[in-house]
Amino acid sequence: MTMKKIILLLTVAAFTLQLSTACTDYLEDGTVDLTIPEVPEEPFDYPTEYNFNNPCALIAQADIDRVKAAIATADANDPVYASWLHFCKSKFAQPTHQPRPSKIVVRGDATGTGVDKENGGPCMEDAAAAFQLALRYRISGDEQYATASMNILNAWARTCEKITANDRNFYLLTGFQGYTFSNAANMLMDWSGWADTDKNDFKEWMLKVWYPHNRTFTLNPGGTNDCALHCWPNWQLANMASLLGIGHLVKDPEIITLAYKNFREGEGSGAINNMIPYAPVEDPDKLTTGMLAQSMESGRDQGHATLVISICAEMCQMAWNLGIDFWGAENNKILAMCEYTAKWNAKPNGTYLTTTMPFFEYKYCIDCICKNKSHGAIHTAVTNDEGRGTIRPGWDLIYNHYAKVKGLGDQACYYSKLFAEQLRYTNGTLTGDGGAGDSRYGGNSSAYDQIGWGTMLYTR
Ligand SMILES: [Zn+2]
Repeated sequence: MTMKKIILLLTVAAFTLQLSTACTDYLEDGTVDLTIPEVPEEPFDYPTEYNFNNPCALIAQADIDRVKAAIATADANDPVYASWLHFCKSKFAQPTHQPRPSKIVVRGDATGTGVDKENGGPCMEDAAAAFQLALRYRISGDEQYATASMNILNAWARTCEKITANDRNFYLLTGFQGYTFSNAANMLMDWSGWADTDKNDFKEWMLKVWYPHNRTFTLNPGGTNDCALHCWPNWQLANMASLLGIGHLVKDPEIITLAYKNFREGEGSGAINNMIPYAPVEDPDKLTTGMLAQSMESGRDQGHATLVISICAEMCQMAWNLGIDFWGAENNKILAMCEYTAKWNAKPNGTYLTTTMPFFEYKYCIDCICKNKSHGAIHTAVTNDEGRGTIRPGWDLIYNHYAKVKGLGDQACYYSKLFAEQLRYTNGTLTGDGGAGDSRYGGNSSAYDQIGWGTMLYTR
């Protein structure tokens, strides 16, 4: 008998004893089921094969086909068609886009890197353009978009040798732009207009310049000076998304499993039970049946708490297309986090829904092994900061997955649905930003932290 089983049996015995002495009133029928499921020694059985047959990890062929059908019908009130028209106007979906690759990319502190300033902006813009042009080609079939995307991808693979900074902020770029570039290139892999040698060179570039950083940050997020939970969930989620994108691109199951293992049982903040540290609770307002769960960033600020949703949703969808159900892990715990975040941040008809939220105290970097102790904080409430209500893409993906693909219905996604509706067109008029988040593109790097276009791609 293992120690784990012995402890479980002792717990059952103690609990039974307590019930029999203190709670006999509640045992009138004489029986009580105290069966505790046996905890397996190897809780997760990781696959050795995944589904690599989609256009890219993020997008299934059925997603493309729905957009094509909507274009054929051309109903201006159809949110998919309205989003497609909106997408065609995106500044990053234009074949005139010219890449600006650099030999070294710096995001973060530039001192000591050999370049005099942060220069991540062109990389973010070019990754977004490569993705949107490749997607526009896959939907429209027009090769001018494939050519423009290919030119961006080739330019970067031929020029860029290194991603760095004098602090760890470059890991944000290796994550966010890593999953954008890998999904973009993947969509052109069966296009004959891109030379095989260039396709292979691009894959090699992702494996040499990007993947090692994604791997290092996934396996050792604390580095040499910090604890594993020092960097917030967004950081690991982005690098795990990049692993899924690159793994699908080069068809390597081990790269996928690296992200999968971290999601289920890693020590960093991208692991589901670190990202969502407490068990979900029922909605006190009884409006959602999807439960509520704060994320690690709910007590930090809402700009970042909403980013967790965007990047987590797209990562979960990539896993889903690969054949892994991150969405359903721990009894739909991701849904509870989405419902919690939407309940606080959605603003239907211009008004927030609530002023009270359940919250469990969260100690961020208190009593941890971080060498620098100055940054610890005790969160006691969901923050009501200037980032509250931040519009980011992802809500249509979340709503459509849980309500329709999983079949849980609208009541399980009550708050996420409200936020999704906030991002859509109504009767041909843009009421949000079309679910794409394209209105967010500006000088701020966070505008490129998620891919978006969820209304167009995932609405059913
Ligand atoms: Zn710490």
